[in-house]
Amino acid sequence: MATVEQLPHAHNGIAHVGEEIAVENPATGQTAGTVPDLGAAAVADMARRGRLAQPAWEAYGFEGRGRILSRAQKWLMDNSAQVIETIVSETGKTFEDASLAEISYAGNAFGFWAKNAPEYLADERVKSGQLLVKGKKLTLRYRPLGLIGVIGPWNYPLTNSFGDCIPALAAGNSVILKPSEVTPLTSLLMAEGLRECGLPEDVLQIATGRGETGAALVEEVDMIMFTGSTRTGRKVAEAAAKRLIPASLELGGKDPMIVLSDADLERAANFATYYAMQNAGQTCISIERVYVEAPAYDEFVAKVSDKVRALRVGQPQGPGSVEVGAITFPPQLETIEAHVADAIDKGARVLTGGHAVSGGAGRFYEPTVLVDVDHTMQCMTEETFGPTLPIMKVADAEEAVRLANDSPYGLGASVFSRDVARGEQIARRLEVGAANVNDAMINYTVLELPMGGAKASGLGSRHGAGGIRKYCSQQAIVVTPKLALKREPHMYPYKRRTSRLLAGVFKFLYGRGKRD
Ligand code: NDP
Repeated sequence: MATVEQLPHAHNGIAHVGEEIAVENPATGQTAGTVPDLGAAAVADMARRGRLAQPAWEAYGFEGRGRILSRAQKWLMDNSAQVIETIVSETGKTFEDASLAEISYAGNAFGFWAKNAPEYLADERVKSGQLLVKGKKLTLRYRPLGLIGVIGPWNYPLTNSFGDCIPALAAGNSVILKPSEVTPLTSLLMAEGLRECGLPEDVLQIATGRGETGAALVEEVDMIMFTGSTRTGRKVAEAAAKRLIPASLELGGKDPMIVLSDADLERAANFATYYAMQNAGQTCISIERVYVEAPAYDEFVAKVSDKVRALRVGQPQGPGSVEVGAITFPPQLETIEAHVADAIDKGARVLTGGHAVSGGAGRFYEPTVLVDVDHTMQCMTEETFGPTLPIMKVADAEEAVRLANDSPYGLGASVFSRDVARGEQIARRLEVGAANVNDAMINYTVLELPMGGAKASGLGSRHGAGGIRKYCSQQAIVVTPKLALKREPHMYPYKRRTSRLLAGVFKFLYGRGKRD
């Protein structure tokens, strides 16, 4: 795999003072590359350069920026093999998880934002009932904030780190991306690809480094887009509040799935298996816990156990080789083991899996199904972020809704029922940013819909109109026509007659309602 030295311009021309970070391939234990650990001074220098580059980038206009993003879409497809290889090398995920959940996302996103940015950010002509502005031209304008900081996690280096840069760039901002220290190589490769596509120097820079680099970035930018854990998200929010800059936070989750007794159990079991184990469970909106109505419980559990038992786990060797790849982040394996051990201690049964895969240099965990679980167990209340699926029997839909909402998190949820109207009614009662009926996670691929979390899962959202407007400030523009009064009636000098007249007008306009 390419080291940073093999990726020209990967250092962004900035001298770094810190040590190098070695990037591990979690599936093999080998080093996939090295990147510089940039300190606060380097980040400040990047910020200065990003600010210098931004006005010219904004002046490209939607068409000019869209052209470069469209080229980048083509570049990504032409170079998808290399990008997949890079993603796999630093995450240990399967070829399919890289291709389906990352390449297809970014490919779509480049085209989507190139096409939709002009409409989402178009000037809006506003009408007003306010008397004093009659005859004036009122416009709401979206103006790029300037320099955006994007901080990303390690689970989807293309989708979740790089993906949020695309609308920020489309809006006319310059961007500094701080990828996770665990998975920085994909971001460097993408930045190189964008340069090849004509993105001007310093409009997108990659600040490789650890948490401190991220903290330094928050101190420099005009807005921060953060994806990661709720714990770090709070720190970022505090730092942003001190600087009075906006922060958009996409944080952790504990997504529930509710299976009603009338559900298509074969479909529900396939979805539970796939969306719990996909990306080895290291997805913010993966199915993390299941509530099944009692009459359907035994059949559902049997189906899921059989399907999970059949999954192959191990080092990905190209397409079709394994279903479940590596655990990317070393401490995550400890969390998974701790949650399973805690559940067993408190009376849960393991139907399949339940152990880390021993032997070999890679880091893997067996796809695991847990039953006899309840909310005293960490596996039902805390984010596990691994290939585990705890399934709980509930008396009815009411109990399922109560337990689904019994969580500090509120990212996504799924409801399975053949009665889709009832499924939707239940979905509307769940305290989550997105609820899928007879589906799961699919909302993430719909770039027209907002994706964001309720409760401790975040603030703000990505995608949709709000997902690009957040990278802009709203500017109100009021233009008075050339032929206007020299002095408007409410101005100095105050005169008894005009003041009374205006008071009468206000009464006429606003005083005709009733008080009951
Ligand atoms: P972390 O919160 O540990 O890290 C996220 C990013 O923040 C990393 O780049 C990290 O750098 C950086 N960072 C660490 N400390 C600071 C700081 N003080 N200031 C600024 N940045 C800092 O999350 P993980 O990488 O472990 O990602 C997993 C989490 O992300 C899970 O909780 C998951 O649910 C969530 N997530 C949420 C998504 C959503 O859309 N809601 C999508 C994907 C994941 P470094 O890695 O170098 O320490």
